[in-house]
Amino acid sequence: MSEDGHEAGETPSSDSMTDGGTAGADDVTLDPWGSATVSDYRKLFEQFGIEKFDAVLPEIPNPHYLMRRGVIFGHRDYEPVARAMREGDPFAVLSGWMPTGDPHIGHKLMIDEIVYHQEQGGDAHALVADLEANAARGLSWREIDEHTREYLLSLLALGFDPDEGEIYRQSGNRRLQDLAFELGAEANFSELQALYGFDGETNVSHMQSVLTQMADILYPQLDQPKPTVIPVGPDQDPHVRFARDLAARTRYFGVTEAYASFEADPEERVLAREAYEALGGDDADVRCGEAADYLREHHAGEAGSSVVDKLDNAGKEPLRPRVRFLDRNATEEAFEALIEAVDGEKRVFEGHVDAFDLDRAAAEELAREVELDHGGYGFRPPSSIYHRFMTGLTGGKMSSSVPASHISLLDDPEDGYQKVQAATTGGRETAEKQRELGGKADECPVYELYTYLLAGEDDELAAEVYEECVGGGRLCGSCKEQAAELMREFLANHQEKREEVRPMLEQLDIDIESPRRRD
Ligand code: SF4
Repeated sequence: MSEDGHEAGETPSSDSMTDGGTAGADDVTLDPWGSATVSDYRKLFEQFGIEKFDAVLPEIPNPHYLMRRGVIFGHRDYEPVARAMREGDPFAVLSGWMPTGDPHIGHKLMIDEIVYHQEQGGDAHALVADLEANAARGLSWREIDEHTREYLLSLLALGFDPDEGEIYRQSGNRRLQDLAFELGAEANFSELQALYGFDGETNVSHMQSVLTQMADILYPQLDQPKPTVIPVGPDQDPHVRFARDLAARTRYFGVTEAYASFEADPEERVLAREAYEALGGDDADVRCGEAADYLREHHAGEAGSSVVDKLDNAGKEPLRPRVRFLDRNATEEAFEALIEAVDGEKRVFEGHVDAFDLDRAAAEELAREVELDHGGYGFRPPSSIYHRFMTGLTGGKMSSSVPASHISLLDDPEDGYQKVQAATTGGRETAEKQRELGGKADECPVYELYTYLLAGEDDELAAEVYEECVGGGRLCGSCKEQAAELMREFLANHQEKREEVRPMLEQLDIDIESPRRRD
C-alpha cells in the first residue's frame, strides 16, 4: 500500500501504497497496480464495506482539515485509532511511496496524513517502497535512489519528524523482510490470483513485493501491538483487507462469543441471544431445546434455521452466553498457559476454552497477553483511512505523464502559477451566466486545489470560495488568479524548506545509495 507516481490507465504492474493520484474510470475496481481511479465513491461503501468517514469524525479530538472537508471520505476500522488519540494510548501510522517519479501534490495528501497522526502522538513510519518499484515497475536502482531523495526531502519539508518517527527503505529493512517471509507462510498463490489477478506470467518478485507490503502494514506492531492506521487511496484497499486477514491468521487464538458447546456464525448467535433473553436470560435455566422451540415459533420459515437444528441437537445442554478462545496456531504450552490464565468459571474442550466470567474485550486482551508471552506477534487488525483522488488540472485524470495535469512539488513556482491559470474550471460559458446560475464548484479542479491544499487550515476560505462560486458572486478569472498566487507561494515556501532540511538527509538512518545493481 504505497503511493507511487503511477498514472491512470497504466498497465497494472507493481507498486505498494498509493499516492493522492488520479481520478476517472467508469466502474469501481480496486486494483493497487492499475489505474488509480474511482468514479463513484458510494459504491465503495456498498461493495467493499469501506465505512463513511463522517460517522467517525465526531470521535476524533482534533481532526485534520482533510477530514473536516471530506477529502478523507472513508475508513476501515478507524475507531480504535480515534480512541487511542482521545485517551492518550499508543497508536501508530504508516504509509509510503513507490519512488517512480517526482513527488507531487497528490503525495502531499498522504504526507499530511502521516504528519498529522505523528503530531497527535502516533508512532509514525514513512517507507520507501523501493523493492516494489524495482519488481513491479522495473525501475533501475539508480532511478529509485534519485526519486527516493526527492521524496524524503518533501517528507521532511512537510513536517515529518525523523527523531520521533522512522523512515525506512523496504530493501534495507531486515526485520521487515523477515516478517514478510513469515507472512508468506500464511498466504498462497490462489489468494494472490483472486485478490490481484496474478497469473502464470506474474513475476515472482512482484508476488514477493505483495508480502513485503503486508509486512509494511503490520511492521509498526512488531515491538508492541497497537492500533495502526494506514492512510491510502481507495485503490489500495485490497492490500489493507489482505493484511487484516494475515494479521488474524498469525494469531495464536481466536476469540468469539458462544451460547453452547457448538459453533455458531454471527447470524446464528443473534438468534441464540434473542431466544436466551426471551426465555428469561440469566435468571432462568434455559436449555438449548427450549430455545429451538422458541425460534421455531417466532422465526418460522426464516433464515437461520441452521441454529434451530444445532439447538435441537444440543437438547438439554444449558444455553448460556460465554466467550470462546479458539486454538488457532498456539503451541501446546501457550494453550495450557491460556487455560491457566482464564479466571472464573471455564470449560476446556479439545481446541477451545469457554469462559463464563469474562467479557469479549477482556478476553481479547488476555489472549494477546498470553500470545506475546509465548513468542507470538499479537497483531491487532490494521485500520485504514481513504482520501479522494485529485482531479487533473486539465480535467479528467491526473497523470504523471501529462505535466499540465498535475503539479510536482519540484515545479518552478512560476510554472505552478501558470498551470493553475491554465486549469479547467467548473465555470459557465459567460460571466453573465456564472452570475445568474453560479459556478459548479463540485466539478472544479481549482476548487479542489483550495480544499485539498491551498486553503490549508483556513476553513473559512474554503467555505467562502465554495459559497461565492455556487452563489454566482465569484468569477473564474479572479478565482484562478487567487489560487495561482497561493500555489506559487506554496511551492516557493516548500522548496525553501526542502533546502533547509537537506542537511538532515545525511543524518537519517537510511542508505540513499542502494547497494543493489539490477537495472
Ligand atoms: Fe472553480 Fe472558482 Fe470558477 Fe468556481 S469560480 S468554477 S471555484 S474556478
